[in-house]
Parts: sequence; C-alpha cells; structure tokens
Amino acid sequence: MAYDFDLYVIGAGSGGVRSARFAAGFGAKVAVAESRYLGGTCVNVGCVPKKLLVYGAHFAEDFEQSAGFGWSLGEADFDWATLIANKDREINRLNGIYRNLLVNSGVTLHEGHARLIDPHQVEINGQRYSAKHILIATGGWPQIPDIPGREHAISSNEAFFLKELPKRILVVGGGYIAVEFAGIFHGLGADTKLLYRGEMFLRGFDGTVRKHLQEELTKRGLDLQFNADIERIEKQADGSLKVTLKDGRELATDCVFYATGRRPMLDNLGLENTGVKLDKRGFIEVDEQYQSAEPSILAIGDVIGRVQLTPVALAEGMAVARRLFKPEQYRPVDYNMIPTAVFSLPNIGTVGLTEEQAREAGHKVQIFESRFRPMKLTLTECQERTLMKLVVDADTDKVLGCHMVGPDAGEIVQGLAIALKAGATKRDFDETIGVHPTAAEEFVTMRTPVAG
Ligand code: FAD
Ligand code: NDP
Repeated sequence: MAYDFDLYVIGAGSGGVRSARFAAGFGAKVAVAESRYLGGTCVNVGCVPKKLLVYGAHFAEDFEQSAGFGWSLGEADFDWATLIANKDREINRLNGIYRNLLVNSGVTLHEGHARLIDPHQVEINGQRYSAKHILIATGGWPQIPDIPGREHAISSNEAFFLKELPKRILVVGGGYIAVEFAGIFHGLGADTKLLYRGEMFLRGFDGTVRKHLQEELTKRGLDLQFNADIERIEKQADGSLKVTLKDGRELATDCVFYATGRRPMLDNLGLENTGVKLDKRGFIEVDEQYQSAEPSILAIGDVIGRVQLTPVALAEGMAVARRLFKPEQYRPVDYNMIPTAVFSLPNIGTVGLTEEQAREAGHKVQIFESRFRPMKLTLTECQERTLMKLVVDADTDKVLGCHMVGPDAGEIVQGLAIALKAGATKRDFDETIGVHPTAAEEFVTMRTPVAG
C-alpha cells in the first residue's frame, strides 16, 4: 500500500526532531506534527530556559565574592522582567533554528494537534495523513497532586513566565526540578522554602552527595524542610496564599510551585484507535527497539518514561531513524553510564553507580572521597566546599561511579563519563596527569580510600 509518508512523527521535541531529521537524511519521506512549540520541553520550558535562569541566579554570589578580589560594586539590583524578556528572545531564536533544521532536512512540518485515527493514520487540522511508521514523541507534562487548592499552585511551565519574581515561594518536591528551581529563586532573592515529603531529597542519587548538597544549600540560607507535605492551599484576601501542611503547620507565601514529577503527554492522542498499550505507570510500553504493542507505532523519549533526559531522547530518536531507514548503522541505546547533572547551586554531576547501588549489586567497593574549599573561594568569605567521590570495584579496580558537588560539576562529569564508558580502572585515573590548578584534577589524585 502506498502511504503519504514513510514516517510520521508526533511531537517536535528533543526526540522527535532528531528522529525526523535523521530519517529524512537517510532518504525517508517524513512529516512531523507539533502542537505547541518547536524544540519541545527542553528548548521552551526545560533545560535551556532553566539553565539561563541558573546563570542569572549565579550572579548574586559572583558579586558577593568579587569583593575578595578587590572589586567594589554599587548595590546590586535585579530585574526579573529583563531576564524573562531576554530569555524569551533567545528561545524565539532557537524556535526559528529548529524550524530551519526541519525544513532544510526535507521534513514536512505540520503545526497543530495530531491524533491517531488508526495504526497508520494521523489527523491534524482536519486533514488525514497515512504513514508506514508512526513515532510518538509527545513528551511529558507536570503532575500536581490533587490537593484542595491545587488551582493556586504553579508548575515549571508557568514558572518560566511569571510576571514578577515572587517575594516568597514554596517549592514542593525533592527531584531535579524542585532542587534546581529552589536554587534559582533563592539566588534571585526570593524568600524560598523547599518542601520535600521524605527524609532526604534527591532519591536515587548517592547518599554522600545528597547530604553534602543539603549542607551546602543550608549554608547558603535556603530553607530546606524535609518530612513536609502540603494538605491544602487557600487564597487570602490580600492575594497571598495560606498553606497548611499535613503536620498542621501553616505557612504564608506568595507562590506555591509543584515539581512533583511528570506524566506522559497522551491527551487526545487517539491511542484508543490503536493497539498501543501502556505500562503500569501509564507510560507507553515499548520493546527494546521502541516498538509499541501496535507494530506500526513506535514511541521514544519522556512518553516511554525510561530516562527523562534530553540526550536520552536524542539517542532513542537516532536509534529509531537508523533501525528503520539505515539498519546497517543501527546501534541500540546503551542505558548504562548515563551522566547527568542537577543544576543546583552548587551543581551535582554524576555518572555510574552510587555507593548504595554498587553495594546492592554485590560489588566489593572501595570509596575515595575528597572535600575541599575551591581555590576561587580562598580570597572570599564563602565557606562552600566541593565534594568528589569515586566508587571503585575492589576486585577489578574498575571505577563504577564518579560523583561531584561543586562548581561546574556538570561540565566535569561529561569527560569522566567517557572514561567510565571505556571501562577505566582506578589505576587509569591514578596514572592520568592532572590539569593544574583545577578542581577537576582531584579526580586523579585521590589515593587513600575512606571506606572499603
Ligand atoms: P518533549 O521535548 O517534551 O517534546 C514533545 C513535543 O510533543 C512537545 O513539543 C509537545 O508540544 C508535542 N506534542 C505533544 N502532544 C502532541 C500532539 N498530540 N500533537 C502534536 N504535538 C504534540 N533534561 C536534560 O537532559 N537536562 C536538563 O537540564 C533538563 N532540564 C529540564 C528542566 C525542566 C523544567 C523540565 C520540565 C525538563 C528538563 N529536562 C532536562 C528533561 C527534558 O526536557 C526532556 O527529557 C526532553 O525534553 C524529552 O524530550 P521528548 O522528545 O521526549 O519530549
Ligand atoms: P522527579 O521525578 O525528579 O522528582 C519528583 C519529586 O517529587 C520527588 O522528590 C518525589 O518524591 C516528589 N513527589 C512525587 N509525587 C509527590 C506527591 N504527590 N507529593 C509530594 N511530593 C511528590 O521529577 P521532576 O518533576 O523534578 O523532574 C522530572 C524529570 O525531568 C526528572 O526526573 C528528570 O529526568 C528531568 N529533569 C532533568 C533535569 C536535568 O537533567 N538537570 C532537570 C529537570 C528535570 P519521592 O522521591 O519521595 O518519590
């Protein structure tokens, strides 16, 4: 049967754009549908604007620390509206780049909401198109628990477009987004509280890293409240919010920001017209080649809920394009050793196993740790300390995990990820000459294990 397209991609986000562009480059006839914004979450309400806001927040400490280097500045003044307007301009520029990338690679762009009609047909803007393969790359959406007053809360989607910087803000959650945004708002001068329902935030990260970040954030004056969860939110006559916690405490604030995970974006997608199945958590179930229970329909990225990171969606998009249209170049995505950073202030950078995971997996481990005051801070009052940690298999000498809390941890861990992926041993680390004077050189100079 002749189809309109070889591949119809729903969603022009990180994974969808990558897959569409490469499939078209391999000679396939490709269309991509986008209902909201080119570049998806990462470009519009995720990684990119978030990092710009993190840079913005970082200036506060730069100004403070500059005094130790002889600078004297007038009183610093911050204007949220300028930061948001400049951020919006940059995102508009990136939207244009994404449009050009698609069009120049020969992909047909359909702007509108796409809905599946059957296993080979999509409807968009009243038109139907058939395709041999359909790729669902519709991403995710913030999930706010159903508590009384949730309509008064915002999510990351709105945080990027607030008209004013709230004077007081409660950030709820203990994952990437909560920790990053608490740092942003605190750095920009809002009276910020982070509320997390458990004992310690950042579940899944190395225990030493979590504790170290907790200490550093507390030193900076960020109010971290663990074992705290909201029961209800009530709007007051003056526009402020009264927040009642489950333990009965009451807090007054101007903004409640929920960062409590993301659900798959399946709204009005027409999955019921196909045999696509969802997993227990509600994400699209796919096999190792991203094929759903409906053979002509594939899915990648946040909507399959494996690892919700842009570089992973990119890798999955690439794998699909290659498998379908350039099989001789197909390589499965390797989900081991995925490096990641939390862009808190200071950053976390991490790759490989945490100490807890390594022990649980039965490794006999050696732990190397270094804590130090970064050189840049020695002329300042700032007492921030950097943490570096290596988890090593005592039997094979292989480095199983590298973890860091400190300036530029995200930048540093990218290079370490290559070493770990290549199977580096602790001896390889020891025999690598450092770059002096840097913080990163500590990763090759740790000699004595702190725990075995
Ligand atoms: P998306 O990028 O979400 O793209 C999906 C697209 O599909 C969207 O544009 C949507 O409008 C469109 N769509 C949905 N339904 C339809 C439909 N029916 N018809 C047409 N179009 C549709 N990851 C990192 O690696 N580093 C970071 O620093 C980072 N920071 C983040 C910060 C925040 C605040 C958030 C929310 C996420 C962050 N992420 C980060 C995660 C990253 O953004 C996602 O993992 C990534 O965007 C997933 O890509 P995707 O292609 O699966 O989906
Ligand atoms: P996460 O899954 O990382 O964290 C969700 C947090 O919310 C957890 O601390 C969780 O607690 C808590 N939580 C969940 N449900 C509730 C509830 N009902 N009430 C109170 N707390 C709750 O999600 P995020 O929203 O922070 O981010 C989504 C994903 O986006 C991340 O997992 C990550 O993959 C990606 N991302 C990546 C970034 C990066 O690479 N730098 C930055 C931002 C996002 P508990 O642990 O107890 O379950």
